[in-house]
Amino acid sequence: MEKKRLEYYRKKLQARRDELMKSIARTEEAGRQADEDTTVDLADKAANSYTKEFLFGQTDTDRTTLQLIDSALARMKAGSYGLCASCENEIQVKRLEAVPWTKHCLACQEKQEKGML
Ligand SMILES: [Zn+2]
Repeated sequence: MEKKRLEYYRKKLQARRDELMKSIARTEEAGRQADEDTTVDLADKAANSYTKEFLFGQTDTDRTTLQLIDSALARMKAGSYGLCASCENEIQVKRLEAVPWTKHCLACQEKQEKGML
């Protein structure tokens, strides 16, 4: 991939990475505060554990994306960024634009989602 384009995606990935780190820190803080709130009654506690479940689910998603971003950055260093991990064809520009941390081209991603990969 062209150096300029690579740099462009690297910036995108890093910006998203920063956002995710902040979001995870915020969510963890919210979870801690929910724990420390001892004034709540039983109904609030139920709502509270629901909130926490939601928060943890959110963190999971963030962490998964974070891992994908880290491995995309590693692929940049290795020089294989932008190539499909499965068929080794170039990943479509539109797809990289939407999901810069993807490691599969659209066709392979679809196969993977159907459990065919
Ligand atoms: Zn592919």
